[in-house]
Amino acid sequence: MKYIPVIGLEIHAELLTKSKVFCGCANEFGGEENTRVCPVCSGMPGTLPVVNQGAVELAAKAGFALGCTVNNYSAFDRKNYFYPDLPKAYQITQFQYPICSDGIVRVCGKDIRINRIHIEEDAGKLIHDDAEGISMADYNRCGVPLIEIVTEPDFRCVEEVQAFVEEIARRLKYADVCDARMEQGSLRVDVNISIMPENTKEFGTRAEIKNLNSVRAIGRAIEYEITRQTNILEHGGRVTQETRRFNDRSGETASLRSKEEAHDYRYFPEPDIPPVFISEERLDRIKAEMPEMPNVRFERYTNEYGLLEDEARLIVEDKAFSDFYDETVGIYPAYKETSNLMLVELNRCLNDSNGKMSEIKFTPQMLAELVSMSDKRIVTKNAARDILAIMFETGSNPESIARENNLVMSTDTDELERIVEQVIAQNADGVESYKNGNEKIIGFLMGQIIRILGKSADMKKAKEILLEKIK
Ligand SMILES: [Zn+2]
Repeated sequence: MKYIPVIGLEIHAELLTKSKVFCGCANEFGGEENTRVCPVCSGMPGTLPVVNQGAVELAAKAGFALGCTVNNYSAFDRKNYFYPDLPKAYQITQFQYPICSDGIVRVCGKDIRINRIHIEEDAGKLIHDDAEGISMADYNRCGVPLIEIVTEPDFRCVEEVQAFVEEIARRLKYADVCDARMEQGSLRVDVNISIMPENTKEFGTRAEIKNLNSVRAIGRAIEYEITRQTNILEHGGRVTQETRRFNDRSGETASLRSKEEAHDYRYFPEPDIPPVFISEERLDRIKAEMPEMPNVRFERYTNEYGLLEDEARLIVEDKAFSDFYDETVGIYPAYKETSNLMLVELNRCLNDSNGKMSEIKFTPQMLAELVSMSDKRIVTKNAARDILAIMFETGSNPESIARENNLVMSTDTDELERIVEQVIAQNADGVESYKNGNEKIIGFLMGQIIRILGKSADMKKAKEILLEKIK
């Protein structure tokens, strides 16, 4: 029998605030253990948490970025459970009244529904030392602000899930909500997955795979679960509802706890934190600060600018790169030429030098000048690439680079004619062969002309003269 997977996601994203969500401790990654902890985030009795308004605004931005309704009213609850990385023995989260609800994100031609986004605090980290047989607790991460994005079970294959996670990561980065560094754990994904026989409507029993930290791991864990659950059903068994862990080395998932052991969190309203009200005016202000989202840019690049989907995808991948492109074509609207120069030559320079967009020495204004010089045939396309590489090195302006390096296209027709005649004279055999129908020889003859003239040659004009003279 063929089975269809039914998948929903819970995505945890750490917010890019300066301080933690309920205290003044710094919100940073790494560093020495237990150096960013205070009585509030370590849950000492008698301390009072205060909501970080920066975290509230970033959560609202996440809502706008993912097409959600951002609610004027939300409230915090306590989720009670004991674990050594949680010194308070409860987590402050939003249960009944989340800050955002009902979003939609389109991937792979399909609308994926987001049920809710809520704010909560992260727990600490346990470091297991197998050699010593001990575990140590690091509370630096306690109280780091998180949002949890909960989707409906709308995914039916790995590709949809992976495309969605990549799109969410991109949008959160664009909005400066989260740096989405999955390898550092600032974006973590839980996958809920069940399978059902094809042509049925009733979902099967699901397993939850916790804390996947790469797009590849998500794909492998889902593939493994589909096979595992299919084998159980094919042998007449029943899938049990449980939480599982994915082992990146073996590529397998293993049971962490079953439903019988599942927590009863005994949520109740957090008595120390008043509800959060956000006025319409404040929401309007937050919304006005939102940058254009990558999906909107993608549509503009492909529909209005005529770029190929692959080109548009590569440009929007990085916001700084896409911003630079937008500024450049805003000054001189040669969409394709700018895209070519940036994706090929600029990316090559960045890769070779391990450089960052934020450190580039030239401005969009200067790139626009270069593109216009190429477009107006002041320099050839080849020369434009060389000039860009020099701009990248030196930050000089394209016009002086072209002049100093003899890359300005020659408009001297007399010289062109003289050189074409010289090449014809030196290649009598080639010309003869052309007259006998060998048109490919033109490429060879043009090569001889470029060799003498260099990259500043007006190739179009040279070819016209050549064809005219050997006709
Ligand atoms: Zn603290």
